[in-house]
Amino acid sequence: MSISGLPPYDPQNVFARILRGEIPCRRVHEDAFALAFHDINPQAPVHVLVIPKGAYVSNADFAAGATDAEIAGFWRAVGKVARDLGLEAGGYRILSNMGADGGQEVPHFHVHIFGGRRIGRMVPRPEA
Ligand code: AMP
Repeated sequence: MSISGLPPYDPQNVFARILRGEIPCRRVHEDAFALAFHDINPQAPVHVLVIPKGAYVSNADFAAGATDAEIAGFWRAVGKVARDLGLEAGGYRILSNMGADGGQEVPHFHVHIFGGRRIGRMVPRPEA
């Protein structure tokens, strides 16, 4: 089990396969700690995912298990990608889903960057 209580890291998850080059992606940035690429199903004019290169299911796993260099490198990459995408002036949203309640589909820790329009409510209202 991962530290967050989620199932252990699955090396066959789609982002692991992208990291290994088994599945293509529209890459926007890559360095020693992070890979950023366009989401295949964009929810905004700009929708980019940033993933750490290490095998972490969740933020809890990443925070507990990653080295200081990995954590700093990852968050520096998130900042650089948003800046390079030209989102600083207009603003943008960073979002990360964890587990079932968070709506996480891919069990490799990742951050979404949304921009290019007013992103709207931070959290949708519960369905009736
Ligand atoms: P989450 O619900 O936070 O786990 O989001 C996973 C995201 O990964 C979704 O927005 C998907 O559209 C996206 N996604 C899934 N497969 C791919 C892929 N092969 N390339 C790019 N994005 C993907």
